[in-house]
Amino acid sequence: MALRLWARGFSSAPAAAAASSLLRSDGYIGGRWVGAATTFPVLEPASGAELRRVADCGPAECRQAVSAAASAFGSWKEAPAKERSALLRKWHDLMIQNKDDLANIITAENGKPLQEALREVLYSAGFVEWFSEEARHIYGDVISSPMRDRRILVLKQPVGVAGIITPWNFPSAMITRKVGAALAAGCTVVVKPAEDTPLSALALAELADQAGIPAGVYNVVPCSREKTPSVGEVLCTDPLVAKISFTGSTATGKILLRQAASTVKRVSMELGGNAPFIVFDSADIDRAVAGALASKYRNSGQTCVCTNRFLVQKGVHDAFVKRFAEAIQRELRVGSGFQEDTTQGPLINEKAVEKVERHVSDAVSKGARIVTGGKRHSFGKNFFEPTLLSEVTTDMLCTQEETFGPLAPVLKFDTEEEAVAIANSTNVGLAGYFYSQDPAQIWRVAERLEVGMVGINEGLLSSVECPFGGVKQSGLGREGSKYGIDEYLEIKYVCYGSL
Ligand code: ADP
Repeated sequence: MALRLWARGFSSAPAAAAASSLLRSDGYIGGRWVGAATTFPVLEPASGAELRRVADCGPAECRQAVSAAASAFGSWKEAPAKERSALLRKWHDLMIQNKDDLANIITAENGKPLQEALREVLYSAGFVEWFSEEARHIYGDVISSPMRDRRILVLKQPVGVAGIITPWNFPSAMITRKVGAALAAGCTVVVKPAEDTPLSALALAELADQAGIPAGVYNVVPCSREKTPSVGEVLCTDPLVAKISFTGSTATGKILLRQAASTVKRVSMELGGNAPFIVFDSADIDRAVAGALASKYRNSGQTCVCTNRFLVQKGVHDAFVKRFAEAIQRELRVGSGFQEDTTQGPLINEKAVEKVERHVSDAVSKGARIVTGGKRHSFGKNFFEPTLLSEVTTDMLCTQEETFGPLAPVLKFDTEEEAVAIANSTNVGLAGYFYSQDPAQIWRVAERLEVGMVGINEGLLSSVECPFGGVKQSGLGREGSKYGIDEYLEIKYVCYGSL
């Protein structure tokens, strides 16, 4: 009942939090729910209300989880791939059966609109399904031997215990994209979810338990921002942990890389981006506007592949800006994620709103023009108006840093060379988008953009089948796709001699 009230937009999220059968407050370690000496609050970004208090696990609980994962590793890696595959499939099926409940939890703790949360659940379950299939497609090699009396084999083996540190913008999918691959490969995991959104990670633990995933294979240690550095340090330095996989900011990624160096752990890093979105003169403007809207304003601009800079060629610049502004005003509605027509929920917290505000005021002080939006939204404390700025230049903060909010800055350019140079003039390279109908230009630009993922005439590009990851300081490794499982596998060369 309470969950239905959420869905109708009543402001009863905290009361409903008590009602979901998937809501948990304790850490999940070695197949048991484990409390901690203190708790920390999980807040609803839309209202600021406390949803629940969750166990504030510290280094001791984290070590316990690592040790549980290390004990479970022995039998999990020996389990036939078919068995691991079936368990992952069961986990996926339970996620689908509980999709509405999981979506409600995401909307409550993250703020994104319920329909978007539901899409995240399907995307998240999709990774578990994909890797349940990949589990059975891990192949070694037999290599032609350079000697008559030797045979050469290559085995693929799981790396061991993986420490998984995830962000709040996809509270469910950023976990399964890593954990699905890890478990399929035969690794066991300790997940440290973001402090803003631990409830989705714990709900996944409840479903993993129901699916029969053995104790110690999937562990979760929720903790507050204060405890985070010490818990992170255990994961990055404990010799029992073989691998760190992280999604989050580049700054935090660098800290983890430094810490992981002391025991030379394998690392996967999905870090920040500064995605360019280039509209060339030959583009279909209406398609470009639709792509721009999706790429910029999904999740209120809070994804690492959201466009951060729009570069528009001078022949279509004015028409694009005009139609983009009209589309923003026509299509986007700010409100609580539980209201049916909402497309723009709150930002995650006050700090996030302050950053958008800072980027707008910096740009305006340097000559940018506010076409639409530009300030906090009257709906509530963490809400910001979908904003479009024109006359933006490369010296403005909003083009240099990832805004991670609903701000679309538009720069005007003259030539293709200029656009590619601006797009590449950053030390990160995750996603990049461009709109063009000139085939030669399409090849040139796709090859020249220094990013890990390119959208051509497309503003949304993530799917479980495709490799997600970046170049430069956007990270190391790829997730999802047939490549994602390699991040959790070691290559062992076996030389069989004296034949
Ligand atoms: P944001 O600033 O948006 O929260 P972060 O990169 O700081 O982005 O957060 C992503 C994840 O990294 C979260 O789970 C957060 O708790 C975690 N994190 C932040 N700092 C550290 C740290 N020093 N050690 C380990 N994890 C960290």
